[in-house]
Amino acid sequence: MSRTINEIFVHCSATRRDWMSDQSTEAKRDEIDRWHRQRGWKGFGYHYLIDRDGTVIAGRPEEEIGAHVSGHNAHSIGICLVGGHGSNENDKFADHYTSLQEGSLSELLDKLEAKYPGAVVRGHNEVAAKACPGFNVKRWLRGPRKILSETRTGKGGAVAVVGTGIASIADVADQALSAAHDVSAMADALPALRWIGVALTLAGVGLMLYARWDDLKAGDKGR
Ligand SMILES: [Zn+2]
Repeated sequence: MSRTINEIFVHCSATRRDWMSDQSTEAKRDEIDRWHRQRGWKGFGYHYLIDRDGTVIAGRPEEEIGAHVSGHNAHSIGICLVGGHGSNENDKFADHYTSLQEGSLSELLDKLEAKYPGAVVRGHNEVAAKACPGFNVKRWLRGPRKILSETRTGKGGAVAVVGTGIASIADVADQALSAAHDVSAMADALPALRWIGVALTLAGVGLMLYARWDDLKAGDKGR
């Protein structure tokens, strides 16, 4: 029996970088399984576990209700990233996880979003007073994940690569604003910042083409 899924939650194991680093992803899942049983749950509460090297393994079957977000388990999928010890809710993904994990998470989300259209991807920290998963998922979705996804599907192509730089400029500005606790007032300026970046890039491409055309003309004269 399939469930209605309207949320996909990202979590962390809250373990140190080198936790069980000499062991398999399955062994890590089994260890987390033990912790969850100790809490009285019926074993590993997430549907997926993403290891430091990007390995993705399944936990509970998707059709089965997980045990990962109080009050949201019935209609959600839970994904756990290995790591995140000592993280804060507004840290950046790269502060606590590997780029291999980032690629795998993005890819897994692509699949789940295709399977459950309309499901909203959220961090555990959006619905509970916790740091988990130790980064701002909304900000990550808008920036790094969007680019990873577009690059992989070929939708963005070269533009996506160019966009990486611009999105990270906006990301830095976004974080600076958050730090200043003045998000609401200035957040509206961020899309504009992205467009300025795009405009500059297009101008650069234009200049390059013009220079080539000029070279061709010069070549003609010389002949
Ligand atoms: Zn969590």
